[in-house]
Amino acid sequence: VKTQGRHGYCFYAPEMSQRSVASQRIENVLRHALVHGELSLQYQPKVDARLGHIVGAEALLRLQVDGQDLFVPDQFIPVAEDTGLIVSIGTWVLREACLQARRWQREGRAIPVSVNVSPLQFQYAGFYERLDSILNETGLDPSLLELELTERTMMTGGDGTIRLLRRIRQRGVRLSLDDFGTGYSSLSYLKHFPVDALKIDRAFVRDITQDAETAAITSAIIAMARSLNKDVIAEGVETEVQSAFLREAGCSQMQGFLFGAPMPAESLEQRLAEQTA
Ligand code: C2E
Ligand code: CA
Ligand code: CA
Ligand code: CA
Repeated sequence: VKTQGRHGYCFYAPEMSQRSVASQRIENVLRHALVHGELSLQYQPKVDARLGHIVGAEALLRLQVDGQDLFVPDQFIPVAEDTGLIVSIGTWVLREACLQARRWQREGRAIPVSVNVSPLQFQYAGFYERLDSILNETGLDPSLLELELTERTMMTGGDGTIRLLRRIRQRGVRLSLDDFGTGYSSLSYLKHFPVDALKIDRAFVRDITQDAETAAITSAIIAMARSLNKDVIAEGVETEVQSAFLREAGCSQMQGFLFGAPMPAESLEQRLAEQTA
């Protein structure tokens, strides 16, 4: 940078150092949060597309102090990935979600909980062993745990990835392909990846009522996934019109603000209690 001379240096340097200052700050906040218990999970309901009742929940990470978000996941997850912190954060998330699901299982309100897994976390040596020991340690029925992985995660590991996915499924844990449609999304991958479900990305859901092509593609994805015996979950459902379209197209589950935003565990518990009352 120095050899670029004064002008180049002045033009590029401030912006670059600002970016790294911001991510440095997030990194510090994350390290502090891990040690001081400032990470928490919220749970977003997944509902049955036809009956509307809660059939599961996705655990979503929060970095809050006094109820206020310091940063949102789209800000801190990339930093956690870049710094490798995601490995310990991801382990914390997995254990915390399993503990919560186990509590619900004990209280007779067993619902499957989905946990997001980052590429680095998934490829880190010992992922399976860690998952296995968390399941043993918490005593959670493995069928009450689902891992959400993106295509990016599944694409980067080669043959080893498929073997790992199979092992996880043999342990009884469900697998779902997150953000479907945003990545390389060749439909033929679906045949190779041993997943139970796919989640149609919010970007499709947002546009189905505005754009006939998106609607057609979305319907085709759902039909194809169903013919391969995969569950299809739509995420980011915000309106009745979207919900009706997706139900007609054959989605089995839905998730979105229309049915409930991510909420603390106690609030989800209350919703579960109301629906069984
Ligand atoms: P995601 O896995 O696709 O999660 C769905 C995101 O959409 C969540 O954002 C959720 O709050 C938001 N959302 C749900 N319903 C609606 C809706 O109707 N409309 C709109 N506009 N948004 C909706 P959130 O919690 O901010 O998380 C963002 C992303 O951060 C997640 O996307 C996921 O990729 C990542 N993330 C969150 N928690 C974790 C975690 O524990 N581990 C890892 N590795 N990634 C996480
Ligand atoms: Ca997800
Ligand atoms: Ca998603
Ligand atoms: Ca996403």
